[in-house]
Amino acid sequence: MTAVELRRRIADLMGRARTDLAELVAIPSVADPRQFPPEECARAAEWVAAAFTSVGFTGMGLHETADGSSAVYGERPGTDPDAPTVLLYAHYDVQPPLDLAAWRTPPFELTEAGGRWYGRGTADCKGNIVMHLTALRALDGPVPVNLKVIVEGSEEQGTGGLEDFVVHHPDLLRADTILVCDTGNAAVGLPAATVTLRGMVNVVVTVEALAGELHSGMFGGAAPDALAALVQMVATLRDPAGNTTVAGLEHGQTWTGEPYPTDRFRDDAGLREGVSLLGDGTVSDMIWARPALTVLGIDCPPVVGSAAAIQPRARARLNLRVPPGTDAVKAQDALIAHLKTVAPWGVHVEVESEAVGQPFEARTGGPAYRALSSAMNDAFGRPMTTLGQGGSIPLCNVFADTYPDAEIILMGVEEPQALIHAPNESVDPREIADMALAEALFLQRYSGAA
Ligand SMILES: [Zn+2]
Repeated sequence: MTAVELRRRIADLMGRARTDLAELVAIPSVADPRQFPPEECARAAEWVAAAFTSVGFTGMGLHETADGSSAVYGERPGTDPDAPTVLLYAHYDVQPPLDLAAWRTPPFELTEAGGRWYGRGTADCKGNIVMHLTALRALDGPVPVNLKVIVEGSEEQGTGGLEDFVVHHPDLLRADTILVCDTGNAAVGLPAATVTLRGMVNVVVTVEALAGELHSGMFGGAAPDALAALVQMVATLRDPAGNTTVAGLEHGQTWTGEPYPTDRFRDDAGLREGVSLLGDGTVSDMIWARPALTVLGIDCPPVVGSAAAIQPRARARLNLRVPPGTDAVKAQDALIAHLKTVAPWGVHVEVESEAVGQPFEARTGGPAYRALSSAMNDAFGRPMTTLGQGGSIPLCNVFADTYPDAEIILMGVEEPQALIHAPNESVDPREIADMALAEALFLQRYSGAA
């Protein structure tokens, strides 16, 4: 089938796509039993299993994972036994609606406004499930490649159900290419693959200087103050321009993909007037290519109830985002060494490691990336660009570790206007149509030949 025919078929299928998405959005599949009954997630899982069965997948079944959620899995053989295998990924659970008063439309009712479809999960990630289904319906029959699909049920909870499942069922999910469809384009109509994710390190630093609280009048001036020491230490982790400056950690990297326009970033981040952005790089350098240190919490007396006392000890929880190209364990070692070196006045310093996650960098030189790039170009009428993401998706590292030869592609319908995770989440139906076309063309063209 030609690209023109596929585009026409997808246009005809968009009514069906809307009905499907409306059905899925109406199921409040928040994978937290304290907020929504688990039966809702079960309904969503059954819906997904039935939908993929209707496009020719067999053995669609619910597989319980370690965190109690169910991942939906099935297969569809291709027409060419030697063709590569493509694993399609999405998740059917959603973020909770959060502040109901902030929603302009009911969160679990697909509502059209201004050409967009509103509702929780319309983009993240039920829009991507519908994108997969629309692409497969448009193709109307088998393609050369072998297909597998995995749709997980607890992605938004971060409880790692699927990560654990992959490790324990490596052969079931093994594929030459994995389409991780849980990101989006640079903007509506601007096709992009997400190619890097930052890793992270969390540590808790404790400073101790005295046996107990001291009167700030009687002792202040000579007695070492643990809170002052901690503030001084943390302050050395940034230079005056706001660059993160951990000794031994590179912080001059640059981003070579799609730029993040400064004005849009100021808007997205909600900066107050007159407040400057941090760092001496571009926005994309700072959020995708360089490390970033954030103080997540400090233990010290709250203002109300505080006394005129010098603090004997203080604690801070620090989060360091680690860019691709930097080993997260080395970054953690550098951070701990830095904190110990800059501690003033001989105060006692203890640093406890909480979590380490490696950054991710997709290999973009293979046949799947080439096929995707040509498919995106034909679907959108402009070349595909690349994006980074400042946060991490641990599943990508698990895929990369379990299937070191697989090409991992992050894409989908979640462009910035979709406001995923926030109230008033929405999807642009043109993104579903164009991305479904790109996916269909990719499945036709990708042969695995180098
Ligand atoms: Zn998602």
